[in-house]
Amino acid sequence: MRLQKKTVLITGAGSGIGRSTAHLFAQEGALVIVNDIMEANGQETVNQIQADGGQAVFMKADVTSPGDMKAMAAKAVERFGAIDVLFNNAGISNVGQLHEVDPDVWDKVMNVNVKGVYLTSKYVLPYMMERKQGTIINMSSCAAEMGLQARALYSATKGAILALTKAMQVDYAPYNIRVNALLPGTIFTPFVENYLKTSYDNPDEAIANIKKRQLSGDLGKPEDVAKAALFLASDESSFMMGSPLYIDGGVVFG
Ligand code: NAD
Repeated sequence: MRLQKKTVLITGAGSGIGRSTAHLFAQEGALVIVNDIMEANGQETVNQIQADGGQAVFMKADVTSPGDMKAMAAKAVERFGAIDVLFNNAGISNVGQLHEVDPDVWDKVMNVNVKGVYLTSKYVLPYMMERKQGTIINMSSCAAEMGLQARALYSATKGAILALTKAMQVDYAPYNIRVNALLPGTIFTPFVENYLKTSYDNPDEAIANIKKRQLSGDLGKPEDVAKAALFLASDESSFMMGSPLYIDGGVVFG
C-alpha cells in the first residue's frame, strides 16, 4: 500500500486518466477526493471505488472558479485534516490552426488547462506549506515538446504547465513540497475519442496514423498514466523535483 493514510485530490476525475488514477490510488490505500465539473461522472467514479472497497468522496467544482477552488480546498482539509497529494489533471482540448481559433475558445482552453492549475494549486498550497509536506502532480502532455498539427492552443497550454511546474518546484521546495509533471502521449480516453471523431472524416485511419508514430505501435491506456502518477505521488519518487515524466510509447524521443 503505497498511499496508506494519504488524502489525495484529483481534478477532472470523472473520466479517463483521472478516473483510472483515482481507482489505483484508492487501491493503494488513499482516501481520494474525486473532483469534476460533471456530477454524474464524478459520482460514478466514487461508486466504482467504493464497490471495490476503496475510500472516495465526490466534490463538484469548476477548476476555473476561484470561489469553487478556495471552498473545495477548505472543505477537504476541514473533513480530512490535510491534502497530501494534489493531481492537477482536469483539461480540455481543441483542434484548429491558430488563425482558425476563436478568441473565446482560446480563453476557455487557457482557463481550464492553465488557470485551473494555478487556482487549484493556489488554494491547496497554503495547507501544504503549513505542514511542510505535500506532492503536486501537474498534467502536461507530449504536445508541450513536439509540434502537432492543428494543436497550437492545446500545446501552448501544456507548455505553460511544464514551465509552471519547474517554477513552482523552485518556490515550494523550501516547504518540502515536490512538484512534477506528467507528459502522456496519445492515451485512448473519451477526450481522444471525441477529438478523433470530430476532427477526422475517417477516425480509424487517424488512429492507424497515430499508432505508426509510436515506437510501441499502439496508443496508451489510462492505466499506463495512472501507474506513472502513482510513482510521482509516492515516496518512491522522493528525489524527483520539477521533473517531466514521459508516458508516451516513445513518441517524443523515438
Ligand atoms: P477526459 O475528457 O476523459 O477527462 C477530463 C475530465 O476533466 C472530464 O471528466 C471533465 O469533465 C473534467 N473537466 C473539464 N473541465 C473541468 C473543469 N472546468 N473543472 C473540473 N473538471 C473539469 O480526458 P483525459 O484524456 O482523461 O485527460 C485528462 C488530462 O490528461 C487532461 O489534462 C489532458 O489534457 C491530459 N492529457 C490527455 C492525453 C490523452 O491522450 N488522453 C494526452 C496527454 C495529456
